[in-house]
Amino acid sequence: MREVEQSAELVQCTPDADWLLERIARVCYNSEDRMRCDCPDGRCLRCRKRRDGFLAGLRRRGHESVFEHASATFRLVTDRGITHELVRHRLASYTQSSTRYIKYDGGVPVVRPLFAAADGEAAWRAAMAAAESAYLAMLAAGSPPQEARDVLPTCAAATIFATANFREWRHILRLRLAMDAHPKFRSLARLILAGLSPRCPAYFAGLEEEI
Ligand SMILES: Cc1cc2nc3c(=O)[nH]c(=O)nc-3n(C[C@H](O)[C@H](O)[C@H](O)COP(=O)(O)OP(=O)(O)OC[C@H]3O[C@@H](n4cnc5c(N)ncnc54)[C@H](O)[C@@H]3O)c2cc1C
Ligand SMILES: [Zn+2]
Repeated sequence: MREVEQSAELVQCTPDADWLLERIARVCYNSEDRMRCDCPDGRCLRCRKRRDGFLAGLRRRGHESVFEHASATFRLVTDRGITHELVRHRLASYTQSSTRYIKYDGGVPVVRPLFAAADGEAAWRAAMAAAESAYLAMLAAGSPPQEARDVLPTCAAATIFATANFREWRHILRLRLAMDAHPKFRSLARLILAGLSPRCPAYFAGLEEEI
């Protein structure tokens, strides 16, 4: 058994997303000429502040389709239970590691629980050892990985690429940062939020405090 940490690597994001979103939204008001002050490209501090205010106003008024024009892809490492919850979000695209094809003969990777009850750890460790030993025994007996996987635990680690537009990411984060979300998903959502916040602060920064 190998313990791995959850992670969220931002592998792709619409370049200059907040500038693009302002440009797109301004078509509604025929005000593209207000994209910049007397600076050359609308990227001075003053323009960035104005842009943040403009985008925050769109969000407050529910003019959110604008935020569908920017997207981001994350490489997430989490467990099977959490990827199962993640893929319920339908307005996104996913590709994840396959327990049918991958043979964990070097040890089963797992993401440990957050252990609300510290005394649960001993029972969890015993179950992990039993599951891994059964998995390896099945492989040794000639079972293919797609059969041996039937004894893997829900906390078996998985890598998943997830691509969604900003509106859908914000929706996912709102649901999965909430107190009633799974603690592992909450902690993964915080990592995703940290990747997105600098890309469009007006839309993502402060989201956790809002919930
Ligand atoms: C705390 C928590 C507990 C949960 N518990 C369970 C559980 O016990 N069992 C279970 O099965 N699921 C459970 N879920 C999953 C939940 O029911 C949703 O399937 C999941 O959160 C995906 O969210 P979504 O449907 O809002 O959005 P997405 O699929 O991310 O879609 C985004 C939005 O698009 C719109 N949309 C998408 N598809 C449609 C459609 N077909 N028709 C109309 N509008 C659409 C909706 O406005 C939706 O909110 C739980 C989720 C959370 C956060
Ligand atoms: Zn400027």
